[in-house]
Amino acid sequence: TFKALLLTESDDGVTAAVTDLTTDDLPEGNVTVAVEYSTLNYKDGMVVNGNIGRLARKFPHVPGIDFAGTVEASDDARYKPGDKVVLTGWRVGEMFWGGYAQKARVNADWLVPLPAGLSPRHAMTVGTAGLTAMLCIQALEDHGMKPGDGPVLVTGAAGGVGSVAVAILANLGYEVAGSTGRPEQADYLKDLGATQIVPREALAEPTKKPLEGETWAGCVDTVAGTVLARTMGQMKYGASIACCGLASGPKLDTTVVPLLLRGVNLLGIDSVMQPYDNRLRAWNRIVDVLPMEKLDAMAETCGLGDLPAKAKDILAGQVRGRLVVDVNA
Ligand code: NAP
Repeated sequence: TFKALLLTESDDGVTAAVTDLTTDDLPEGNVTVAVEYSTLNYKDGMVVNGNIGRLARKFPHVPGIDFAGTVEASDDARYKPGDKVVLTGWRVGEMFWGGYAQKARVNADWLVPLPAGLSPRHAMTVGTAGLTAMLCIQALEDHGMKPGDGPVLVTGAAGGVGSVAVAILANLGYEVAGSTGRPEQADYLKDLGATQIVPREALAEPTKKPLEGETWAGCVDTVAGTVLARTMGQMKYGASIACCGLASGPKLDTTVVPLLLRGVNLLGIDSVMQPYDNRLRAWNRIVDVLPMEKLDAMAETCGLGDLPAKAKDILAGQVRGRLVVDVNA
């Protein structure tokens, strides 16, 4: 048997409990992985709390949208027992069983070989959140952002995506401004490399002005809402925003004026269905541009049994950096 955090549904709603399963319980798939680490992402918070929406609809369900571990059995020529692998996205942990278990059986197409130089633990400290941060920065650079252009704003900076984005940008030589609603995290963000802290309130008040002073040479936005609307009006001429999150809700009430008069680009970033080649590019780049000591500084570890409580914390915006799940703890 092996342990999993299993979600079951009853008239009282969705309940999460650590449960013993056997390999016969695993869904169909051509690669079985001995999971070592998973993580808690914002989306996991929604699934574990039963805020299901379009995320997980079939029960019993094993959540966990990402994991890293070792291949145990494989019917696919690309993987053999002993290979280290990482998985993010493809609706694993939502539509399909995920990483909150000591074993997972998945489709080989969803796996990425663990890049050399990255341990399963570090891969999951990065996790979906960190991969998304890298995809955002790659998209901004592909649209012309470069060090020396001016400050780059990261919103929701003390969260998972935000923390990794701050650390990578700073290491690449960008001047980084972190926007946070938690002023007590200012020192944490400065240690990751932010040189400017922007209080969330400074961006959370709506304004009627479609254009404000040209301030930001780029932006990684994890928050949406008024923060994103205000940021659009503060971008430098021709600069881009990588829009990847909705921590304040999905709404965006604004005008197209910054796009038309300043050539601002609003770039949508999706990590879930991201094609394999670009995933590989992002994972390999992470090894080069994310210092491991910065990664360690933003991580906390918990076990499967801690997840129901931690899932509530992340939805309340109370998790700092990355929460790594040691499924064998
Ligand atoms: P997280 O660790 O909870 O970080 C979110 C951060 O947003 C919080 O730490 C907080 O930062 C800020 N925040 C929370 N509530 C807010 C509010 N009401 N108004 C303004 N700011 C608020 O979550 P995460 O895992 O990093 O994910 C961040 C977002 O990105 C989520 O919406 C997630 O769904 C999305 N995401 C998207 C993709 C994709 O493929 N597009 C992939 C991963 C994540 P401060 O305390 O610093 O203000």
